[in-house]
Amino acid sequence: MLAKRKTAVVEDKRFLDHRGPAGHPERPERISAVGAAIDARGEPLTRFAPRAATPDEILRVHSREHFDRIAEASRRAPAQLDPDTYVSAESFEVALLAAGGTTELALRVARGELDSGLAAVRPPGHHAESDRAMGFCLFNNVAIAARALQEQESVDRIMILDWDVHHGNGTQHVFESDPSVLYASTHQFPFYPGTGAVDEIGVDRGEGFTLNVPLPAGCGDREYVGVMERLIAPAARSFRPEVILISCGFDAHRDDPLAAMNVTREGYRDMAGIARALADDLCGGRIVFVLEGGYAASGLQDGVNAVLDVITREDSPEIPKKAPVLSGTVLDTVIEQVSRAHHR
Ligand SMILES: [Zn+2]
Repeated sequence: MLAKRKTAVVEDKRFLDHRGPAGHPERPERISAVGAAIDARGEPLTRFAPRAATPDEILRVHSREHFDRIAEASRRAPAQLDPDTYVSAESFEVALLAAGGTTELALRVARGELDSGLAAVRPPGHHAESDRAMGFCLFNNVAIAARALQEQESVDRIMILDWDVHHGNGTQHVFESDPSVLYASTHQFPFYPGTGAVDEIGVDRGEGFTLNVPLPAGCGDREYVGVMERLIAPAARSFRPEVILISCGFDAHRDDPLAAMNVTREGYRDMAGIARALADDLCGGRIVFVLEGGYAASGLQDGVNAVLDVITREDSPEIPKKAPVLSGTVLDTVIEQVSRAHHR
C-alpha cells in the first residue's frame, strides 16, 4: 500500500490586512473568495499558517534598498509605489507572510514532508523586480521560494511555470541568466507589463531556459491546454526539474475583469492535471501552486477548485488525448513561433 499523498494549503486571515484604495482590483475579498472555495470542499486538508520570510530570504532576490523602501512605505501608509501598486500600514508584514508562507511550503515539499500544496497568498509577486515593486506586487514570492530551495535544500533544477494572464517580468529577470531555473510563461500579449515576447529566451548561460508563449486576446481552454501539451510539457521533460513551482494566477478566466481570455474551470483542471502528471513523472510529484492574480471571485473559485481537484487525488490524473493542431490556428502559429525562437 502506497503512503497517502500529503497536500497542504497555506492560508491566513492576515492576508486580508493589505488594503488598497476603494475599487482597486487587488483587494482582500480575493482571499475571502479563495478561502470560501477551500472551506466549501470540506476536505481534510492540512492547513498551515504562514511565517514571515526572513530578511536573508528576501535579500537573495531583492536589493536592501527595495526591502527598506517597502518597510518605510508601510510606516507612512497609505502610499502608492507606482500607479498600480499600493501600500497600507500592514502591507510590509503581510508581504513578508506571503513570501514566507510560499517559501516554507516549497521547503516542506522539497524535503518530502509534503507532496504538494497551494499557497493562497497576497499580495501577488511575479511582477516585483529585484529593485522595485510593480503591478500590485511587493516581494516576488515564487522567486524567493526558488532561491530558498537552491540555497537551503540544494535543489539543482527548478521549473517555474507561470500561467497568470500577465507576463511575470520580475521572475524572468531574476532567473534569465540562470540555467538551473527554467522559467516558462504563457500570457496575453501584447498586454501589461509589455515583456514576454517569444524571442526573450534567456541571457548568457541562461539562454534557452526562459520560455515565453505569448497568446493573443480571446484564447481559451483549447489554446491554454494545447500550449501545456505541445510546448510546456516537452520543455519540462527535457529540463527534468526536481521541483515544479506554479505561478498560478486565475486572471485568464473568462469572468476576469482585467484581461480578455476565456479559460474555464475545466481548462484549469486540465492544465493543473498536465502539471501534476509532469511532476509525478519527473520529480516525485513535488509541485507547489502559488497564487498570483485573478480578479473575479468566480474565476478564483473555479481556479482553486480545479487545482485542488488535481492535487488532492491519490492517483496521477489521466491526461486527455491531445487534440490535433489545425493549420493556421492561433495554437499552430504560436507553436511555430516558439519553435523558431528556440532553435536558432
Ligand atoms: Zn495577472
